[in-house]
Amino acid sequence: RAYNFNAGPAALPLEVLERAQAEFVDFHGTGMSIMEMSHRGAVYEGVHNEASSRLLQLLGNPQGYKVLFLQGGASTQFAMIPMNLLTEGKVGAYVKTGSWANKAIKEAKLIGETYVAASSEEDKYMSVPDLSNLQLPDNAAYLHLTSNETIEGTQFTQYPDTGSVPLIADMSSDILCRPFDLTQFGMVYAGAQKNLGPSGVTVVIAREELVSNSPKHLPSMLRYDIQADNNSLYNTPPSFSIYMVNEVLRWIEEQGGLQAVEQNNRKKADLLYNAIDNSGGFFRGCADLESRSLMNVTFRLANEELEKQFIKQSEQEGFVGLKGHRSVGGLRASIYNAVPYDSIKALVDLMNHFQQQNG
Ligand code: PLP
Repeated sequence: RAYNFNAGPAALPLEVLERAQAEFVDFHGTGMSIMEMSHRGAVYEGVHNEASSRLLQLLGNPQGYKVLFLQGGASTQFAMIPMNLLTEGKVGAYVKTGSWANKAIKEAKLIGETYVAASSEEDKYMSVPDLSNLQLPDNAAYLHLTSNETIEGTQFTQYPDTGSVPLIADMSSDILCRPFDLTQFGMVYAGAQKNLGPSGVTVVIAREELVSNSPKHLPSMLRYDIQADNNSLYNTPPSFSIYMVNEVLRWIEEQGGLQAVEQNNRKKADLLYNAIDNSGGFFRGCADLESRSLMNVTFRLANEELEKQFIKQSEQEGFVGLKGHRSVGGLRASIYNAVPYDSIKALVDLMNHFQQQNG
């Protein structure tokens, strides 16, 4: 297998792929693949409901939350959130932390009034802003933040108390990388293709009251209440992707749950950041120390020529996905839950070797 550092779609646990392969053609003696089954049948519905209860279970089963499996990616949530929640006279408050936060703001502006409650733009998005003294407008419909900026490589370590204003987080690139207190949030959402499974499904976990009363003029598929009332089976769901999410969640349980996953992620991130920090300036981390992401490690070499050479050499040696996002350049190693510690060891060996040759 390749050393896969892709940002998304990203590496999946080998055990999950192998389990899916074993039951690909004949799911549990039914003589059919799960993707060939009716989404209205008991077998598929069992998988669908298991995925949602497993997810809530991993988050401590707080009362009053619903899980939705939607399509259109996290990008569609950028629009659905204001369409459903940014009603007349309200303002959508946003934390502006980088590329993905900006995309969320851009969509909300098409729907209604927005307000930037905090920003790290002045810091070129290389940190996350301090949210301890946030002032929100009285008519804020919600506060939206991006828990992990996939492109810049920054991540929040704590979340603000927003009182009666629902806190909404785009957790696309760090959901389930560590435990978090769901009850702090009105809604969290994530495209599945990093920590949850394959692309094609977007997971939304929301407090029931936020998904129970959408504006009636919205198209049905874009109404949270219709999706919730129909258990995300209003139309044909991306059944194979949801099945895979269920298997990834099972794998997380088998790892020992979110605390064990976090411990492993910290070990992995420490190994890589230490290699960068101990290179005497040959490799340089992009994000501020306190804002560094556990999931997307962004770093640079002295010049673009050397970076190109590093990427070329990495590809020759079986590494994939180390090129930084086209909008910021440099290098990026995405080390999501499923990336094994040994892949990071191999990357650190490559970095050391490259430094010996070129330093
Ligand atoms: N938000 C974040 C933080 C992301 O990293 C991404 C994708 O990379 C998205 C949103 C967009 O997700 P999608 O491609 O599912 O629309």
